Amino acid sequence: MARVSQRLQRIPGSATLAISTRAREMRAEGRDVISFGAGEPDFSTPEHIVAAAQRAASDPANHHYSANAGLQPLREAIAEYTQTHSGVPVDPSQILVTNGAKQSIFQAFAALLDPGDEVLLPAPHWVTYPSGIDLAGGVTVSVPTSMENGFKVTVDDLERYRSEKTNLLVFVSPSNPTGAVYDADEARAIGEWAVQHDIWVLADEIYQRLVYGSEDVAPSIAGVTTDLENNLLVNGVAKSFAMTGWRVGWMIGPEDVVGAAARHQSHATGNVNNVAQMAALAGLTGAQDTVVAMREAFDKRRQAMVAMLSEADRIELAEPQGAFYVFPRVTSMLGSEYPTTVALAEALLEETGIAVVPGESFGAPGFIRLSYALSDSDLERGVSRMLDMFGSL
Ligand code: PMP
Repeated sequence: MARVSQRLQRIPGSATLAISTRAREMRAEGRDVISFGAGEPDFSTPEHIVAAAQRAASDPANHHYSANAGLQPLREAIAEYTQTHSGVPVDPSQILVTNGAKQSIFQAFAALLDPGDEVLLPAPHWVTYPSGIDLAGGVTVSVPTSMENGFKVTVDDLERYRSEKTNLLVFVSPSNPTGAVYDADEARAIGEWAVQHDIWVLADEIYQRLVYGSEDVAPSIAGVTTDLENNLLVNGVAKSFAMTGWRVGWMIGPEDVVGAAARHQSHATGNVNNVAQMAALAGLTGAQDTVVAMREAFDKRRQAMVAMLSEADRIELAEPQGAFYVFPRVTSMLGSEYPTTVALAEALLEETGIAVVPGESFGAPGFIRLSYALSDSDLERGVSRMLDMFGSL
């Protein structure tokens, strides 16, 4: 008898988590490890949010099961937040609060896809989407982008990969791992194309407030496209409020689809932890100055990292505009010693104590992802150490 189902045998472990785990182990062995692998802010959750959670934990009302779709005050706050930041009017009945954005993404695929349905996924892409698509019976169709085009797809690119079976486009702006941000015109053109061909758009807006241009939020494809009804928005508090560990995200969409996802959730997990929901509520409705301060800190680090990497002559780079990642091309470091970026990343970690995520994890061999969610001094020390090693290749 097979021990693990074929379905789950196909699902790889998260490469980013594997790197962080190995980095932690090496630290425990006393090695000086600097990790550029983190997919989360290095800041603590703001004090007023933690205080709200402490109060919520003492309130017996939060000690029991609650509404599967989320606490009503939180759903109301999410509706208002979405109007403010995505420019989309939303009724609380269209919102499902989930255990992080991850659960929204998995449930969105489960709610929308039938076996064989194709999902257009611009690459490089975050590691989690293909697994969610696969588990829901869908087929991932990667749409390649190039560094020269800022890692963004155009309508022409998408049209080349559209087929009779195309059901859904995954649209992520700002992007993990590239930091690419679509401007309003680019997002609108893609949104109109989706409307024209009756294709669903899953818009992952988790990094929407971590942008470094003149605007303080990335344009939402749903906010800039009229008539975009086939749309699911995914968002959460993890990145903007330094709340990755609290596990609060949400999905927003038409009531029938969100209702289907809610039925899935009612069997899989039920309501999200009430204390964490109350913390998220405090984040969304409280002072927003910590979001701004964190963005400013990330922007300084982004500039420092881009400046250091740009000086290295064998590294190619598109300046990231959002999230907290730089995604340089390092193909000129590859050769007989390290034939792939996986081998290069392993050597960087084992020999120099620098953790980076190889591009293979994002469907982009030849690249590495460096997160700049780490302290200024570690950033400088780590990049110099990495460049020293590259210099010896
Ligand atoms: N979407 C993207 C693009 C991400 O990078 C991440 C986290 N790495 C998530 C969603 C998951 O967010 P959460 O912690 O809320 O599940």
